[in-house]
Amino acid sequence: MEHLRAELPGLALASHTVASPQIRNRGGVGGNLGTASPAGDAHPALLAAGAEVEAESVRGSRRIPIDAFYTGVKRNALAPDELIRAVHVKKADGPQQYSKVGTRNAMVIAVCAFGLALHPGTRTVRTGIGSAAPTPVRARAAEEFLSAALEEGGFWDNGKIITPSVAKRFADLCAGACNPIDDVRGTAGYRRHAVGVMARRTLTWTWESYRGARHLTEGAA
Ligand SMILES: Cc1cc2nc3c(=O)[nH]c(=O)nc-3n(C[C@H](O)[C@H](O)[C@H](O)COP(=O)(O)OP(=O)(O)OC[C@H]3O[C@@H](n4cnc5c(N)ncnc54)[C@H](O)[C@@H]3O)c2cc1C
Repeated sequence: MEHLRAELPGLALASHTVASPQIRNRGGVGGNLGTASPAGDAHPALLAAGAEVEAESVRGSRRIPIDAFYTGVKRNALAPDELIRAVHVKKADGPQQYSKVGTRNAMVIAVCAFGLALHPGTRTVRTGIGSAAPTPVRARAAEEFLSAALEEGGFWDNGKIITPSVAKRFADLCAGACNPIDDVRGTAGYRRHAVGVMARRTLTWTWESYRGARHLTEGAA
């Protein structure tokens, strides 16, 4: 939260929302991945950043792309004899955001959560959705739509405000990527709706940061 917030802003923001200071001082990213709960807060941020999990056993080590790590409800791709040795996350090359809906501001499991990372270097965007499907998932159709819309509109270069219709379509596609259930924390319909709202908001926040950073760079040049 403190030392890596410039390099890994999405994960730092997600960490802010985990439980309480006491739990945060003990809990780690490895344990969040080991649990592989669909509601774990690290997952949307790691999916959006494109992390890799390094697993190690007496047989050696291997890197598992985060997209392949979550295999079912609280299940992951680790073999029985493997431990997580490290989590590799590239330094952010653009703005990242994390948003979580809960019944209060602290000590709360996500009703649903959303992570977004803009990758201006590759002119792509990546998403992560938590607690709205059996596993943490990416909204791939939404990512492809937004990447294409940003490219076609020249947005990466002109830094214009994203049109509301683009933001709405992105939000709808993110909501469509959910496969939620009704449970005590929320209904499936509410989760889908909330993911759409978070997708639109995080897009606005990250895009404003991107535009601001461009403005500063241009001002300095
Ligand atoms: C009161 C409370 C509130 C909580 N609130 C939240 C919350 O808001 N958001 C959230 O995401 N989580 C929450 N949690 C869950 C938990 O704190 C987090 O998932 C935390 O990240 C777990 O990390 P840990 O290091 O404590 O893991 P542990 O509890 O030590 O381990 C969790 C699991 O992962 C396995 N594991 C741990 N390390 C490794 C490793 N290196 N390789 C392979 N497997 C490993 C363990 O065997 C175990 O099965 C909460 C827990 C409590 C008790």
